[in-house]
Formats: sequence, C-alpha cells, structure tokens
Amino acid sequence: MPPSPKKKKTTDSRDKTLCKLVKNGILREEPEAYRKLITSPGYLCSKCGRVAQDRENLCKAEAL
Ligand SMILES: [Zn+2]
Repeated sequence: MPPSPKKKKTTDSRDKTLCKLVKNGILREEPEAYRKLITSPGYLCSKCGRVAQDRENLCKAEAL
C-alpha cells in the first residue's frame, strides 16, 4: 500500500473566492495572503460586497 500523500491543511486551490477562503480560515491562518488579495481592489462582489484585486476571487465580480 503506497503511502498516502500528506494533505496540507491550508487554503484549497479549488476554493478561490474570498467568501470560501474566509470560511476556510484564511484570515486566521494566512492573514498576509488575504491582505494581498484585497489590496488595491479592482472588483466588487455584487453578492456579498467583498472587494478583490482579481475577479477570480469573487463569486459575482463586477469591475469597480
Ligand atoms: Zn462574494
């Protein structure tokens, strides 16, 4: 039986939206990474009101 790869318990790359990242504890575990995502934002999420640099990080991005 092959050794199972160790799962790193950090932010899942599948969940890129800020809503999910925050839910997954990015603010607690990687506050710096979160800061980078929201510094000088270019997009606003019209669903939850968050802002981000990259539209990929929002569930319903709209250009600011
Ligand atoms: Zn959102």
